[in-house]
Amino acid sequence: MIDTHCHLFDPPLVDDIPDVVNRAADAGVSGLFVVATDIPSWDRLQNRNTADTSQVQTVHYALGLHPWFVADIPEGWLERLEAELPAFDAVGEIGLDRGNRAPDIELQMPVFHAQMELSEQTGKSALLHVVRAHDLVLQYIKEHPSVRGIIHAFSGSPADARSYIDKGWLLGVGGGITRERAHRLRRIVKGLPLEALVLETDSPYLGTDDVPPGRSEPYLVRKVAEKISELHGVDVEYVIEVTTRNALNLMLSTGSAA
Ligand SMILES: [Zn+2]
Repeated sequence: MIDTHCHLFDPPLVDDIPDVVNRAADAGVSGLFVVATDIPSWDRLQNRNTADTSQVQTVHYALGLHPWFVADIPEGWLERLEAELPAFDAVGEIGLDRGNRAPDIELQMPVFHAQMELSEQTGKSALLHVVRAHDLVLQYIKEHPSVRGIIHAFSGSPADARSYIDKGWLLGVGGGITRERAHRLRRIVKGLPLEALVLETDSPYLGTDDVPPGRSEPYLVRKVAEKISELHGVDVEYVIEVTTRNALNLMLSTGSAA
């Protein structure tokens, strides 16, 4: 079972990494995709201690600039990303966001494009945050068909989902689906093939039905697997098997080292 999107190096998780990883391993988590957000998180990820995460079999690290943090980035950020990327497995968390919390989309576009180009050049997968911008991202993917990755915490329409899947992309399903009110998301995920899905928590940021946002941890990814198994009417072990294979195949096919 793989949590394909967690912020292990953001507070409060970063202060407690060995315990957080132990709790995940106890819950059956075998792998983590750890993503960056802002420049301070790059520094922490660069100075990671692999012994802290040794309780899980595979940890894949992504480096990238999240769309919320594009407003005041230091000069030379792109050169730094390019220089450091060989020590990482993927480009992320990057993306486009037309929500209220995000900077102007015009500021986000060049930063997104530059990072997607790095993903294409290096062959490393892209881990995307997309909020109300699926039209723009799908347009980019159409023009750059060799780029592969995950749309994390997918929130688009069934038609958007089909377009991503047709282009070989995976869709991340997170703790939101455990909430009673998530009727729309549940309906969409129920109609999607398991072969296109991966599990995630976005911890600590996104919560679950009983853990508030800001306090979640990778061990909660099991609750996501359980909810998908309920929606699809299949065994939870089968959901775990298929989604784990999807996640690992992506990293293998994009030439990332485990
Ligand atoms: Zn995230």
